[in-house]
Amino acid sequence: MRPFTYERARSPAEAASAAAQTPGARFIAGGTNLLDLMKLQVETPAHLIDVNGVGLDRIEPTPEGGLRVGALVRNTDLAADARVRRDYGVLARALLAGATGQLRNKATTAGNLLQRTRCPYFYDTNMPCNKRRPGSGCAAIGGATRGLAVIGASNACIATHPSDMAVALRALDAVVETVKADGTTRRIPIAEFHRLPGDTPHIETALATGEFITAVTLPRPPGGTQIYRKVRDRASYAFALVSVAAVVQRDGTGRIALGGVAHKPWRVEDAEAELPRGTKPVMAAILADARPTRDNAFKVILAERALASVLVEARN
Ligand code: SF4
Repeated sequence: MRPFTYERARSPAEAASAAAQTPGARFIAGGTNLLDLMKLQVETPAHLIDVNGVGLDRIEPTPEGGLRVGALVRNTDLAADARVRRDYGVLARALLAGATGQLRNKATTAGNLLQRTRCPYFYDTNMPCNKRRPGSGCAAIGGATRGLAVIGASNACIATHPSDMAVALRALDAVVETVKADGTTRRIPIAEFHRLPGDTPHIETALATGEFITAVTLPRPPGGTQIYRKVRDRASYAFALVSVAAVVQRDGTGRIALGGVAHKPWRVEDAEAELPRGTKPVMAAILADARPTRDNAFKVILAERALASVLVEARN
C-alpha cells in the first residue's frame, strides 16, 4: 500500500471542502471497497478523509411521505428498518442480496452507490484498463467477458456496475442529495447519477470533484408487489450475473430495473408499458440495443427468464 495522509471530517461541508482542497483525496467510511483497491494499488489516493464522524446516520420521514436515508446509514441498518421492510421491500431485499453480513455491517448507503466495477482486468494492474488508467486501453474487449456488460458499453469500456442497492433505488426513483465545497447543495435523480462509460469510463458518476453525498431520498412508497431477484454463480457473496428489481401493481403495470448488464442500473421506462403483455415484449424493449459477446450472450436469456419468474411470483 502506498503512503497516504489522513484526516477526520466533522461535518459534510468540512468533508467536501477538504476534498476540494486536496487533489487525489478520497472519502472513506466503511472502506469495504476502497481498502481492497488500495491494497492492490488499483487506487492510490494521496489523502483519505474519514467521514464516519459527520453524522448522517439516520433514516427520517420526509414531508412528502417518503424516507430520507443518511449517507452513513449502514446497509444492515437500512435493510432492517421496519419502514423500509414494509414500504420499500425491493430495497430491503436488494441490500440483503449483497455481500455478506459482516460487510453489510460496515458498508454505507453512499459507499454502496460509489462501488467500483468488479471487472477482473480493472483489478489487475498489469493489464491495460481505461477506467483505472485513462487512455491505456481495455483488456476486457477481446478478453474474458462473461461477467461484463451486454448493453450501454463503449469501445473504451464494457464493465458493469456491481451494486444491488442501486438497482432497487433505480426502480424506486430515488434521489441522491449532495453538498459541494462551496456549500451549495443539489439533488440528483438516481437515473442521472451513474454514467455510461463513453470515452471516459473513469468518470463514473455525476459528482463534481469534492462533492459529497449527504443522503438518498426515497419518494412516497410505490405500493405493489416488490421483488429483487439476483442470479449469480453461488448463493452468497457473489455479484449479480443478472438481477431484476421489480415493482408490480395489481393491474399488471409496474417498474423494472436490471443489474449486472450495464455500466449503471438499467431501466427503460418506455418498455414498462409492455408489462401487461408479458415478459418477452418487455425484455425485447429493455434490451433492444444489447450487443452481447459470445461469452455473455447468455445474460440476455437469463434476464428474460429472471423477469418471467419475477412476474409469475408477483401475480400469485
Ligand atoms: Fe477496464 Fe472497463 Fe476495460 Fe474492464 S471493461 S478492463 S474496467 S476499461
